Order: sequence, then C-alpha cells, then structure tokens
Amino acid sequence: MRQRILVVGWDGADWDIVDDLLSRGLLPNLEHLIARGGRGTLLSTVPSHSWSAWSSFLTGYNPAGHGVWDFVERDPTDPDRRIPVSSTSIRRTTFLDRLSAAGVEVRAANIPVTFPAWEINGRMIGGVAIPPRASFVTPSDFATELRERAPFPINGLEWMKFERNPDRLIDDARHLVQQRTSSFEVLLEGSWDVAVCVFLAPDRLQHPLGAFLLPTHPLHDQVTDSPMADALRGVYRLVDEALGRLVACAGPDALTIVMSDHGFRPVERQANLTAILRELGFAAAGSRNDLAHSVRRWAPTRAITHSRVGYALKHLIRAPAMLDWSRTVAYSAGTSGAISVNLKGREIHGTVEPADYDTVRRDVAEALLSYRNADTGDQPVAGVLLREDLPDGDHADLGPDLLARPAPLWSFRANIDAQTQSSRWPSGDHRQEGILVASQAAAADLGPWSITDMAPTLLAMQGLTASGVDGHPISMIARDTGDLLESDHTGSVEADAVTREEQEEVAQHLRDLGYIE
Ligand SMILES: [Zn+2]
Repeated sequence: MRQRILVVGWDGADWDIVDDLLSRGLLPNLEHLIARGGRGTLLSTVPSHSWSAWSSFLTGYNPAGHGVWDFVERDPTDPDRRIPVSSTSIRRTTFLDRLSAAGVEVRAANIPVTFPAWEINGRMIGGVAIPPRASFVTPSDFATELRERAPFPINGLEWMKFERNPDRLIDDARHLVQQRTSSFEVLLEGSWDVAVCVFLAPDRLQHPLGAFLLPTHPLHDQVTDSPMADALRGVYRLVDEALGRLVACAGPDALTIVMSDHGFRPVERQANLTAILRELGFAAAGSRNDLAHSVRRWAPTRAITHSRVGYALKHLIRAPAMLDWSRTVAYSAGTSGAISVNLKGREIHGTVEPADYDTVRRDVAEALLSYRNADTGDQPVAGVLLREDLPDGDHADLGPDLLARPAPLWSFRANIDAQTQSSRWPSGDHRQEGILVASQAAAADLGPWSITDMAPTLLAMQGLTASGVDGHPISMIARDTGDLLESDHTGSVEADAVTREEQEEVAQHLRDLGYIE
C-alpha cells in the first residue's frame, strides 16, 4: 500500500516567527508533528518570491529550469506588453502530472501559480491569482460539489488596500482561513495518496505587519504586547487549528509535511530600483504620451468599450511603458531586485549592443553597490548577482541579467515614487530560509534542504524518480524507497489560455499586493 502524504503549505512562514509562537504554546498541532518527526530549513529559490518558489516546488527545477522568474512575463503576441504569469508559464512537468501519469491519486489546493487549473488524476482547486468569475476547480463535477458544500473564496488579503484599516485585514484573514479549511476538508474526502493544501495568510499579514510578529524587527519590543500583535498571533493559531483538521482528514498513518516557500525578515526602508537607475543615468522616464500611445495600440485588439480604455490606461502594467526606451540601458520591474539590460535583438526598443552587454552589467552593478541617497546617505543595495551566479537551466534567458540584493532592513518596491523612503507599511519582506517539518523523519534535525527537493521527495515516496530535475529526495523523509521507476515527464501544464480581461483582473490582484506598479 502507498504511503499517504499530506503537504500543508504556510506561505512565508519563518522559524523566527514560528519559534516565538511555539514557545507561547500557540501552535500545538505543529508542535505535535515536530515532536513525532523532525524540523529543518527549506531554502527558497533565488529570487525568493512566491511565483518562482512555488513553481520550483511543483517541478523540482530552479527558475532557470521552469522559466517562472517574476510575477509578469513578456506577452508572446505583443512584446511591448507584460502579462501576469499563469500556470501555463511553468515550462516543466509538475509532480502532480508525474504522479497522475503513474496512476497516483492526487489533491492540490490553493498552490500559487495553479490558475488556470488543469486536469489531474484527482481534484484541484487553483491558486492565486484567480480572475473573478473564472472557473478554477477541476474536475467540473467536483467544482459543483465544492460550490454547494464549501465554496472556496478566491484571492483576498490584498494588504495594500488596508493601511488605514489593518483590523479589517486581520478579520478577513480569519474568515479566509476558516472558509478555506472547510473547502480543503471536502477536497480531502475519499481516497487519495498525495495532497497539498496551501495557506497564504502568514505571507499576506507579515508583509504589512511583520514588525508585530518578527522578533528581529527593531520595533518589535514596542509592539509585541499590543492588541494587534495578539490578533495576528490569533490568526496563526487558526492556521494551526486548520493543520489539525487536515491531519485528521488524512488519517493517523499519513505522513504530514508542513513547509513554506520562503521565510521572512524585518523591513524599515524601501527603495525603488528603477528610480535609482534613473538617478544614476541608466534609465530615463517616458512621457504620458508614450503611455497613451501604447494603450491605443493595444486597445483595438480587445474590441473594448470606451470606458474600458480608461480602465486600461489606469491599469496597464506600465513598468516597461513608463520608460523612454531610447535613453534606457537598464531597468527593473517588480519587487525582487531583478534588473534587465535593454539589449538589442532581445528587447523591442533595445539600445545596448550585445558586445557591450558585459560592460553595461558591470557598470550597473558597480553603480548600484556604491549608490548612496544624497540626502539621507541610505545604501539600499547590499549585493548584485549576475545571471551566471544563479543556477543554470534551459530558460535562464528569461531571467534577469542582474539581481540586486537588498541591504538588511531594506525592501525593493516598484510602487513608491522616491528612490528611497522609510517604511512602516510594509514592515516585512521575504528571505530565503523557510520552514520544513515532517511528522515521520529519520532525525529530529532535518538540516537544510531546497524547495526544489520537495517534488523529488514526494515522487520517491510513491516509487518514482524524476531524472534531470535540479532537486533531490530529502533522505530523512523519503527513506527505504527501494528501486524507483522513471516518471513520465512529457509536456508542461496543459490548461486553457487566460483571456486578456482575466489577465487585467489578475494584474489588479498583484497590484493590490504591491508586487507590480
Ligand atoms: Zn510575499
């Protein structure tokens, strides 16, 4: 008989926070799992944002392997435009598909980047970001059953909208955790071998309110006894209760793994890398005319109404459109520190000759590293990686040319106007070190592993191997597996295409999470 495995994802959970909550006795279910098995560190991808990391979780490949580097990617039909990444952007076979092909019964719920949902051998509830009105559950008879018995609330916790009303954000988090746990309980009915259920509340609360939860935040001592800190710890308590409910669904013999896609660190200052690159002379701002022009070009292809043009003008993903390309040699988009060279032959308005590519990258790296805000003396950039410093793969070319790493207490964000500014909201951001707990393990200390190791681990425990992936089975969890059969790796995610209107709706969710401008 196959070993039943339940994976519970806590997006953004970090040992600094979780250990504090464990010591307060607020996470009894997690504590029980650790006592029965072991705990370790799960290292995120570089860059450590959720879209790359969960794609690595699903495939076992680094971003250079699966091609998901950012929240947005180039539109293959219109190189001037960026579109939100979706499940069809994952260019490798997921373990859900490998298990399905081998006849293993799977369940997947709320894993980021799994919209559009696709057919697997089992049931799937797609994960963020989901356009309102879109169908996101497969197969369709399960979609109907779920709608009737425990409707799944999509997206939510767009924390950028709650700065004046953080109590509402926490209320919403409580409701979402409860409702989603009920949906997951329906999902976990019947027979299955491998199930994954993800909770996003830790990440969505720690970005704006990290100071209340992170003992390493300079303000933490001042706020840790506040009602807000209590309320936030209360949400974690619910997430732990949910863990107990899901473990009960899986049954006493199941192996339970709790993991995060990245950890969290304190933030006190924000920097806008594109604004800094402009100040340093590597990029130049575009005019409103350029923006209006690019929208006009784009509008007729959608046959949109006049009011929709206004909507589009306001909401177009404008990172590339807002720059004067003729005077730009390097630019940044998103929050992860990724920088692209405006390379001729690759970028639509490229200015940099391929022969100058390396010189430009070195100049940009040097300038960013020595950059200081003239007024404040702020130095937001602690390091700059070149593409070849990152793990290699077939889709390395889709990745950034340079990756800036923030100094301690700094966060890179595209949605601020100044080059640098202080920050109370957000007060937390990602770091690479996430959490890993397994209820049955060969050692209490699992050590450090990579998020790319999750897929090979889950496959090995079902008797399968995936040659060629970057990750390796976690030996302390996948023990005594014997000879493994090569798993089917044909094709990547096969799901319906996302419409342009849905892309805009997804972009709005990303904007409300502060990921894009
Ligand atoms: Zn996050």
